[in-house]
Amino acid sequence: KKIDTSKEGTYEVTYSAKDSSGNKTIAKRKIEVIKKIGSDKQSNEKVVYLTFDDGPSENTKKIMDILAKYDAKATFFVTGRNQDYNYLIKDAYNAGHTIALHTYSHEYSTVYASVDAYFDDLNKVGQMVKKEIGFVPHYIRFPGGSSNTVSRRYCQGIMSTLTKEVVEKGYQYYDWTCINGDGEGIKTIKGLKKKAIEEVNGQEDIMFLMHDSANQGNTVKALPAILDYLIKKGY
Ligand code: ZN
Repeated sequence: KKIDTSKEGTYEVTYSAKDSSGNKTIAKRKIEVIKKIGSDKQSNEKVVYLTFDDGPSENTKKIMDILAKYDAKATFFVTGRNQDYNYLIKDAYNAGHTIALHTYSHEYSTVYASVDAYFDDLNKVGQMVKKEIGFVPHYIRFPGGSSNTVSRRYCQGIMSTLTKEVVEKGYQYYDWTCINGDGEGIKTIKGLKKKAIEEVNGQEDIMFLMHDSANQGNTVKALPAILDYLIKKGY
């Protein structure tokens, strides 16, 4: 069956390769096409999903205050690295934001050491969040994204296994389609805003990645201008 990326379903793909001596090998792979993000929306509606990774921290509260002014909701992909601020996980949840999991340690060498190591870490952050909001969220984001190449250094091929196994265990993972560059070393308010505008670039459905960790004070400061821009553009 040919893959139709516009149609949900499971497709099987067969690959074959031949080396210079004529040895042939065949591999089969299942491809799952899932519903497009935002496909529930009204037609022509432009949607941006605001997501903040690596918190909580003191910046989480500042971001929540800004979001409240705009009557906007976000998703926070949290870690266990700054637990003095875990009360903000509960506050964010109570304010109507979505809490999601990003891993407990966020250390690539720990998280991606093996499949078991990944799930140990994920369970840990799940239990941590459960203490705050009463349940384990099933929305997750992989450190570095689902197709990161850093994990290879610790465990070759791990992302292929993890992306399959998390779904089998009932989790849904989300990458992103837009950044403000705060994870890529852009540190000025002006630079963050400029990068965000470049990245938005007329996309209809945006999964917007920013960071609410303690060292991202300028992400907070750039946020109102970015939200103003998105609103002006009809999101
Ligand atoms: Zn992260």
